[in-house]
Amino acid sequence: MSFSWANWGRNQTCYPKKIFRPENLEELQAVIKEAQAQKVNVHAFGAGHSWSNLVPTSGYLIKTDQLNRLLEVDLEKKQVRVEAGMPLHRLIQHLDAHGLAMTNLGRVTKQSIGGATSTGTHGTGHTPTLASFITEVELVLADGSLHKLSATENGQQFAAARLALGSLGILYSVKLQCESSFVLTDQCSIMNAAFVFEKYAELLQKNDYWMFEWNPYTEKALVYSWNRTRLPVKKSVFRAVKNALKEATFNALTALLRPFPQCTPKLVDLRFWFSTHALRADKSYKVLTRSYLGMRYVECEMSVKPHVLPDAVRELKVLFKAFAKEGKGIYVPRVTFRFVAEEKGSLLSPTYDGNRVFISLVMPAHSAFERVFSEYQKRMRAFEARPHWGKIHFMDQALAEQLYDNNLREFLAIRQTLDPDGLFLNAQLSCFLK
Ligand SMILES: Cc1cc2nc3c(=O)[nH]c(=O)nc-3n(C[C@H](O)[C@H](O)[C@H](O)COP(=O)(O)OP(=O)(O)OC[C@H]3O[C@@H](n4cnc5c(N)ncnc54)[C@H](O)[C@@H]3O)c2cc1C
Repeated sequence: MSFSWANWGRNQTCYPKKIFRPENLEELQAVIKEAQAQKVNVHAFGAGHSWSNLVPTSGYLIKTDQLNRLLEVDLEKKQVRVEAGMPLHRLIQHLDAHGLAMTNLGRVTKQSIGGATSTGTHGTGHTPTLASFITEVELVLADGSLHKLSATENGQQFAAARLALGSLGILYSVKLQCESSFVLTDQCSIMNAAFVFEKYAELLQKNDYWMFEWNPYTEKALVYSWNRTRLPVKKSVFRAVKNALKEATFNALTALLRPFPQCTPKLVDLRFWFSTHALRADKSYKVLTRSYLGMRYVECEMSVKPHVLPDAVRELKVLFKAFAKEGKGIYVPRVTFRFVAEEKGSLLSPTYDGNRVFISLVMPAHSAFERVFSEYQKRMRAFEARPHWGKIHFMDQALAEQLYDNNLREFLAIRQTLDPDGLFLNAQLSCFLK
C-alpha cells in the first residue's frame, strides 16, 4: 500500500512509509516505539495548514485528528487541558460552553492546537503567539515515554517544547491559560495608507486588537479595530449570508480576471470596500477569526522590530514596483500587518527578544510566488526579519544562528538531550536544527 500527503496550500507533498491515526495516548506511544525500532523518522501533522516544508517525510506520519478530547477544565484557574490534535474551532466551542475564551487567536480555526502552537501561530494586538498561552505540555519522546513539562517542571525544556516545530517529540496534550469569555466591538474601515503608517503605533496602542491590510498600488489601507465591550451581542444570520455572498462574488471576479493581473490593484480596492462595515459587537472568537471559502493561496510572513518598519516598507514598495513592471505585471493581492508582543518563554518564538510587526504577503497558488517570496526574504535580511515558521521560508543553519543566536544553541542542546538519534528530524528540520 502506498501513502501520499499534501498540505492545504498544495505546495508541499510527500510519500511517507505509513500514515497513522492514533486514537489515544497508548496508540500514539506505540507508533513512536515502532518508528524507533524501525529507525524511521516520524512526524506529526494536524490540519496540514503550514505552507513551509515542516511536515514532509519519507518516514512515518502521524495524523493527530483523533487525539481531540477535552481532558480537564479548571474554572477557578480558567485553564483547560486538551489533546493536541483538537482543532481550534472545536477548542473555542468547548471554551465558550464553559464561559471561557482564548485571549487571542489567528484568523482561521481549522488548525490543530498542537500544530498552531508548534509553529508560533499568532493573532494581532498586544499578546505573544498562541504558544505563550500554554502552561503545561505532555510530550511523547523517542522512546515512547511521556514527559510532563511546565514552567516549574523542567522550565528550559518547556520553553523549547511549546514552540518546537515537532522536532522534540509529539505533543500529546497541552494545558492552556484562558480567560472568561468576552465580547469585542468590531470595526473595519478604509484609510489613507500614508496616514496609517505614520500613526500606526498610536492606533495600535488605542485599541485592544488592531491590524491593517495595505494596497501598495493605490496606497489605501483596510484597518481592523477590535475592543473589549459590554455591548450586547446581536445575532445576525443575514450578516453571515451577506459576507458569504460578497466573498463568493469576489472569488468569481478574481477567477474571471486571472488572465489580467494588471486588474489586481482595483480588485484589492474592491475587496477593501466589500470588507468595511459599521461598528458591531460579537463574541471575541467570532470577531478575531473568519471563515474562508475555496480559494487556495500561499503565504510568506516576515517579522521586523517596530523601529525598522518605515525602512522595511520603503524596501517593499521598491519590490512591488519592480514586479508590477514585469511582463503583464506580477502583483501581490494581500499584504497584511499584524502586531505580536514579546515572548521570552519560548526559545524559538520570533518575538523572543521584543515586540514585532508581522508583514505577510499572500499570493495565489498558481502565481510566481516563489520568486516574489524569495526576493522578499532576501530584502528583509537587512532588517533581521524572522519568518513565521509555518509559512514559506528559506531557513538554513547560518540564518537560524544569526536570527536565534543563544536561543538556538540552547534549543539544540535540549534537542540533543531529548532526541539524540534525530527521530523527529525530517530533511527540512535537519537544515537548521541539527
Ligand atoms: C488558511 C490559513 C490561515 C492561516 N492563518 C494564520 C494566522 O492567522 N496566523 C498565523 O500565525 N498563522 C496562520 N496560518 C498558519 C498556520 O496557523 C500554521 O502553519 C499552523 O501550524 C497550522 O496548524 P496545523 O494543525 O495545520 O499544523 P501542521 O501544518 O499540520 O503542522 C505544523 C507543524 O507542527 C507540528 N505538529 C503538529 N501537531 C503536532 C503535535 N501534536 N506534536 C508535535 N508537533 C506537531 C508538525 O510536525 C509541523 O512541524 C494559516 C494557515 C492557513 C493555511
